[in-house]
Amino acid sequence: MKYISTRGGAQPAEFCDILIEGLASDGGLYVPESIPKIDITTLNSWVGLSYPEMAMEILPLYITDIPKEDLSKIVNNTYNQSVFNNADIVPLKKFTFKGKENFYLLGLSEGPTIAFKDLPMQLLGNLFEYVLSKRNTHVNILGSTSGDTGSAAEYAFKGKKGVQVFMLSPYGRMSEFQKSQMYTLEDPNIHNLSVKGVFDECQDIVKAINGDLDFKKKHHIAAVNSINFARIAAQIVYYFWAWCASAPRDDEKTNYQIDITVPTGNFGNILAAQIAKMMGLPLRNLIVATNENNVLEDFFKSGVYKPRSPEQTYSTSSPSMDISKASNFERFVYFLLDCNSEKLNEYWAKLSSDGSFDLSEYKDEIALRYAFKAGMSSHQDRIATIKGFYEQTAYTLDPHTADGVKVASEFMDTDTPMFVAETALAAKFGPTIAEALGKPAAIPERFADLLDKKRHDIVMDNSVDAVKEYIASHA
Ligand SMILES: *Cc1c(COP(=O)(O)O)cnc(C)c1O
Repeated sequence: MKYISTRGGAQPAEFCDILIEGLASDGGLYVPESIPKIDITTLNSWVGLSYPEMAMEILPLYITDIPKEDLSKIVNNTYNQSVFNNADIVPLKKFTFKGKENFYLLGLSEGPTIAFKDLPMQLLGNLFEYVLSKRNTHVNILGSTSGDTGSAAEYAFKGKKGVQVFMLSPYGRMSEFQKSQMYTLEDPNIHNLSVKGVFDECQDIVKAINGDLDFKKKHHIAAVNSINFARIAAQIVYYFWAWCASAPRDDEKTNYQIDITVPTGNFGNILAAQIAKMMGLPLRNLIVATNENNVLEDFFKSGVYKPRSPEQTYSTSSPSMDISKASNFERFVYFLLDCNSEKLNEYWAKLSSDGSFDLSEYKDEIALRYAFKAGMSSHQDRIATIKGFYEQTAYTLDPHTADGVKVASEFMDTDTPMFVAETALAAKFGPTIAEALGKPAAIPERFADLLDKKRHDIVMDNSVDAVKEYIASHA
């Protein structure tokens, strides 16, 4: 499998190259040259596989430049119970909700930072270590986070040989639990830079530094943000897992379909569902749930894409979705345009000159090919959903998952199972849970002393040069 850029200006590359490189040299995003197809017979033969076995069916389709025995070791070292706090790795949590009996949370948050990003990131940590040692080189990972990417990356790379992590986060805008989780790490290869700005500005600094090719090359800058296709590949696995683990054990399976709702920020998680669907997985509706930062809801309803500025980005109680310029959306548009980079470049030129573009002529196409739907959840919705779900099921939703559940409830019917991606656990968001339920969520035993530990973040001005300077003197 070769990877090419959405913008058509980069040489085709192998998986291990794009793993390390992240963003393509022409500023576009790497995508597989073709999407592998899985027929229904093959899919049925995967029912009953364990999570690492499922990963070893999907990942080798995308990772063709690592020998299967080596990849298998990496996968088994990643998806096991010493890393994930559940024997299934991704448990399916079934509920009866609003009278619907086949309502599931897809339990993506059993990893070390109790958010779904552990699933791709733990794999990346091991893939990086493998590739870097083979190549006898080192990298400096530069990233930005609105909360969960950063901690997931740091827990995946802490102590890894040949890797330093420079993680930008928006100063004062994450939950206490998120701050503690990241800033209390003491590993010398982890650098937490708190930037005085919002997440989109952190993301822009990362983009600017990646655009400085000399600097990037000189300091071996790499990325593990959700633009890294390796993360998308790892996320495809759990949609196949959801289907296979819930499919009826009889021959009805040929007609078995599920709906997926994903609390969405950078569009990485739902893009993986879209690719799974393109591969042939019978996913019916792909439902995008946004919070008050609802640029994507607007897009899927109107066909007009109009990202907002950092000043117009609200700070909400589902902070990991406070994104107004979803980085992976470019991949969605690329696939929608039948992989036509020329057309894509025209839309992106329009975006930078006009601040928006209009894809409403493709609305039928979007509905027909992908069945994308979208909805929005506000703070009031979030609180009411956490409360209502708790009353019906005795289970505490995290605020992001609550956005998903709220929007899912607008699209569900009796027959088709509904899966909502559980993108974090409630324990991370004490104050919001307390507002909904009158008491914060229980903190799992293994995190009990986290909030008391000393924090080590470095506060920085919102400036590309300041960040560059720090990297240059610590890389
Ligand atoms: C990152 C994150 C999201 C958004 O996922 P994307 O792949 O960026 O769309 C949603 N919820 C939580 C808890 C997250 O950490």
